[in-house]
Amino acid sequence: MNCQECHDFIDPYIDNELDIAAAIPFQQHLRDCSLCQQLLESRQALRALLNKLQLRFEVPDSLSRKIQSALPAATASARQRSGGRSVIPWFTIPLALAAALAVVFGLQFLNQRGMFAPSGGNALVEEVISCHVRSLLALHLLDVPSTDQHTVKPWFNGKLRYSPPVQDFTAQGFRLIGGRLDYLNGREVAALVYQRNKHIINLFVAPSESGRTEAVQSFAKDGYNVLHWDRDGFEFWAASDINKEELTAFADLEMKQA
Ligand SMILES: [Zn+2]
Repeated sequence: MNCQECHDFIDPYIDNELDIAAAIPFQQHLRDCSLCQQLLESRQALRALLNKLQLRFEVPDSLSRKIQSALPAATASARQRSGGRSVIPWFTIPLALAAALAVVFGLQFLNQRGMFAPSGGNALVEEVISCHVRSLLALHLLDVPSTDQHTVKPWFNGKLRYSPPVQDFTAQGFRLIGGRLDYLNGREVAALVYQRNKHIINLFVAPSESGRTEAVQSFAKDGYNVLHWDRDGFEFWAASDINKEELTAFADLEMKQA
């Protein structure tokens, strides 16, 4: 089994849908491939996080009462009109659809009131976190899987109008594992991917709008840490679920090695 096949099996595996014939080569591959093992663990962590976020919610009592009170009344009046015979009234189906629509509009209403809206904060920080999470969720973590900065850096040639600085910090515990193209703040950016123990760090690099060198700013949201800094005409956004101290150590390395 190669890595691509292995990636295709990760979701069915987590959902317990792999039969034994598929599960054995899958598990064999995982034993031999730390990258796929890493992806599996990221997916499991993400699933745990999504469960924790409680994206499901209970339909408010008032809304379900409204739907239920609409249904029996309609059925009773249909029975009257059909002379007591038990028939399925022609409007039962549209009514069911209307009830479904009521639920949808109810949800939309709640959304407008901000019940699902992210709590305030820097919109760009949220976008950075979304990009980070999406890279783990979509199994599109790496376009160029390589621990060699001299492979990763030239890979961006011709794909971006700039050449991002790429450094490896394996010796300091932050291993470069590759890069990919991503989209952030309305433009294509280089995403460099680092591994810290079992954690992934995404480092987004784009030409700096200010051109200044700016010290590290830190943000935290939903269990993720995000750091931002500018240097030498580039701006950097680092996102990870590692703690702030470790991520700051990573940012310091990036700034010092420049
Ligand atoms: Zn693999």
